[in-house]
Amino acid sequence: MLEETGIPDREDIQNNLPDEERLKEGPVAIFECYQEIPCDPCYYSCPLGAIKEFEDINNLPELDSDKCTGCAQCVANCPGLAIFVIDYTYSEDEGVIRLPYEFSPLPAVDEQVIALDHSGEEVGTGRIVRVVNNENQDKTAIVWLAVDKDKLLTVRHFKRMEESADG
Ligand code: SF4
Ligand code: SF4
Repeated sequence: MLEETGIPDREDIQNNLPDEERLKEGPVAIFECYQEIPCDPCYYSCPLGAIKEFEDINNLPELDSDKCTGCAQCVANCPGLAIFVIDYTYSEDEGVIRLPYEFSPLPAVDEQVIALDHSGEEVGTGRIVRVVNNENQDKTAIVWLAVDKDKLLTVRHFKRMEESADG
């Protein structure tokens, strides 16, 4: 499916996940980078050496999840918008996905949004809990989106709610 549509299926996603124990410990990066292309800014952006050095610039990134704190610096530096941070520990029912966002205007904290999956299909709602947009991110904001925990591997983007008719 991935080669035909560019959309990863659950198996593609599972194959790139840190193990279950690490997922339970807190925020961690996940890479949805599937094509061998000459690209490696993720490696240079990680301040903790959690992304293994590329032997060949065409190689796919490899994460040492024990070193990763989920800081999301690599998320903002990936030109392919292929890295996300997921956090299963946010609350009892909700997890947070930290995702790259390059649209304007930025969403506001506490805003309710429509959650979208890898193919752009609506899969429920989510709530913005933080927006990080520092100068060193080169206009790629990191949006923290809270969703039901069982949707953390499904949700990869969101769209704004349309304004209600009565404004
Ligand atoms: S989330 Fe932070 S610590 Fe983890 S790989 Fe990315 S830059 Fe490194
Ligand atoms: S920067 Fe992004 S697209 Fe490039 S190798 Fe790293 S994860 Fe893949």
